Amino acid sequence: MSALPSIFISHGSPMMAVTESPARAFLVALGKTLPRPKAIVVASAHWEERGAVVGGAAQPGTIHDFYGFPEPLYRIRYPAPGDTALSRRVADMLETTIDAKRGFDHGVWSPLILMYPDADIPVIPVALDESGDAASHLEIGRKLAPLRGEGMLVLGSGSFTHNLGALRSTQPGQPTPAWTTDFIDWTVKALESGDIASLEDWEETAPHALQNHPTPEHFMPLFVAAGAGGKAELLHDSVHHGILAMHAFAFH
Ligand code: ZN
Repeated sequence: MSALPSIFISHGSPMMAVTESPARAFLVALGKTLPRPKAIVVASAHWEERGAVVGGAAQPGTIHDFYGFPEPLYRIRYPAPGDTALSRRVADMLETTIDAKRGFDHGVWSPLILMYPDADIPVIPVALDESGDAASHLEIGRKLAPLRGEGMLVLGSGSFTHNLGALRSTQPGQPTPAWTTDFIDWTVKALESGDIASLEDWEETAPHALQNHPTPEHFMPLFVAAGAGGKAELLHDSVHHGILAMHAFAFH
């Protein structure tokens, strides 16, 4: 069996589940073009713990961890099963503990409902380390890498840029500011050239790093995916409302 690439995707707003966008169309297509995974191990920006805790529910619930959105979003369920034996194994690989009650936050279900709408592939959530940095999340990815060779998908779900304050003050169709395009261009180039050393120091080296990521949690899933894979391939690039970069990468 050939190994699946690890994947980083930008999950955007919860509205992506119900409104058309280039990033939404990309995720629908991605689910149809990737070889069907046996299971999905996903690190979402919306679950942070002290250490990379692993979800271990047999039937995880759907978490609606957002406020003020249209009512239909709160009725969405993503009923994919867990896999308790695989959760145990992933926890052993990461030398961490299991949260047997953890469900799927919207960083997990909003892309997966587009990629795999039948919800028939087991999904194992993995928390980000709330005190971790790029290096520690690369290490989480490296520990998960062997799963790829067994036909499992290691998925990082975050956002390539994530300044929600700036997003709220923009209008649809406005041009992307230089502080966002500079960050996008630098980071794409560093990924494509395999310059992991510069990426590890992204808060210092990437232009306007903290303006694009006032807090780091939406960028950390990129490092989990990068650590689990090899050469980076840009799969998708679009920018929502001029601010929120929806880029996706495969790591082969
Ligand atoms: Zn998010």
